[in-house]
Order: sequence, then C-alpha cells, then structure tokens
Amino acid sequence: MKIKFLGTGASEAIPAFFCGCPVCESARKNGGKEIRTRAGVVIDDRLMIDFGPDTLLHTLYTGLDLSKIKSVLFTHSHSDHFYAFDLLARSLYSGEGAPNDILKVYGSAAIKNGLIDSVWYNKERVFDRISFCEIAAEREFFAEGYKITPIGVIHIPTEPCFMFLIEKDGKAYLHVHDSDFPTERAFAFLKDKGVKLNAVTFDCTYGLIKTEYGGHMNLYQNIRAKERLIKDGTADGNTKFYSSHICHKAGSFDDIAREAGKNGIEVAYDGLETEIL
Ligand SMILES: [Zn+2]
Ligand SMILES: [Zn+2]
Ligand SMILES: [Zn+2]
Repeated sequence: MKIKFLGTGASEAIPAFFCGCPVCESARKNGGKEIRTRAGVVIDDRLMIDFGPDTLLHTLYTGLDLSKIKSVLFTHSHSDHFYAFDLLARSLYSGEGAPNDILKVYGSAAIKNGLIDSVWYNKERVFDRISFCEIAAEREFFAEGYKITPIGVIHIPTEPCFMFLIEKDGKAYLHVHDSDFPTERAFAFLKDKGVKLNAVTFDCTYGLIKTEYGGHMNLYQNIRAKERLIKDGTADGNTKFYSSHICHKAGSFDDIAREAGKNGIEVAYDGLETEIL
C-alpha cells in the first residue's frame, strides 16, 4: 500500500494568506518542505482521502491523476478538506476525454448536503457522475478493494467526523485528522479489532505549541497517542508514524522535525510518499 501526502497544511496553508510570520516568510522565500497546501492523501494513486481547495495544485505538482481516482473518503466537511465545487467538475463540466464512470463519494450527510448546496445551476445534475454513500462510525465498508472503517473523532460538534482505518492484503493504515486526542472508545475499538497498524498519520495542527486547544493535536499529543497505540499492541516498533495538517504557528519544518524525530515520528511534507510493504 502506497500512501502519498498531497497536502500537509492546516486550513490556512503555509504561507498563510496575508501572514508575515517567520514561517510564512521563510516558505515564500525558500519554498520546499516549508510550503504546505491544504491536507489530503491518496492511497495507491486511486483512493483519495479528502478533496480540498488545493486539489488543482496537487494535480500540477504532486503527480495526482484524477482520472485514476474512483473513490473519495471524507473525514468531515470543513472547507480545507471538502471543496465541493471543484469535485462537482466530475458531474457538471468535465470535458472531452473525462471519465464517464461513477465517482464514489463516502462521507457524512454534511458532505451530501454540501455537494447540493455548492452549485447555483444544474443542481439536478450534481449526481450525474458522482454517487454518494453515507457512512457511520464503526461501520466498515469496502471501496476499491480496501476494507475501510470510519472511527469517530472529536473535532466539531455539528457533524460526525471520522478517522479512517484502511486495510488491504494484511496491511493497515490509520488516518487521524482532523482530530483531538483520540477517545478511549477509539483506542479500545482498535485494540478489540486486533489490528496491527503499519502506518499512522496524526493531526498535528499545533506542532510545538504546548497548549492543548481542543479539536486538533500538537506534537506532544501525537507522541502520547503513538505510545498509547504501542502499549495497546495496536502498533509496534515497525509502525511508521507521521505528523501532518500543520499550521504556520506550529513551528518551522526543521524545528518540528527535530523534536518529532527524537520521538520516532516523521513530519510529513507535501509530496512525501511512503510504501507499506
Ligand atoms: Zn483541517
Ligand atoms: Zn504565518
Ligand atoms: Zn476541520
């Protein structure tokens, strides 16, 4: 299973609009790993998690080929993860040579409503080449040959938000963002399943900021979550851990990576690829 990080920033991206902080200034000047577009990953080039406002950039700069994407999973409907208008190109205005098959979209009812509400014309064509499937926490389903289990997270109270456990051929990936520190129920659910995780990505919005604001995590919470998964036997010394969804106030790439590296966590950057063998 190949996991590619398309975007690794929080909602305001790095460099953030209108921001002159040292991290944003450094990103404008130096580029590279300091630049973070809005978050999303793609599994084996065909299963996407989230489809945010920077998807066009991902097709230009990360090699994302949307014609190969047949299913998209949504963690939640915040607009840095769900940019409905661009996704609707599939149904409304794809050009010659565009795929004619149906793109499967999996998420809470907030995603379905967002798709319908985001267009002011041709509303009756929204689901022409998109099918919507409502998902619920702890109810597994299959997409593109992967077994996918949404697990509830604490992020916002207005809709269900999910982490995703994605399994195939004896390999398992856990995608955890946007999310506060995982709940006892989530840890217990994973432990009871007896799953052995090969890779995990945590929400690390606040990076080196020690304050815990809720709804997201900092690096120190990522470290605690990692230790808890290992203690539970859900992960072990071979599990790869990544921090992503990082905001411009969280610290520079190098500073976060140094601290994370000491604790066995790699800081993700746009375009990073990892293969679970
Ligand atoms: Zn987000
Ligand atoms: Zn900034
Ligand atoms: Zn969010």
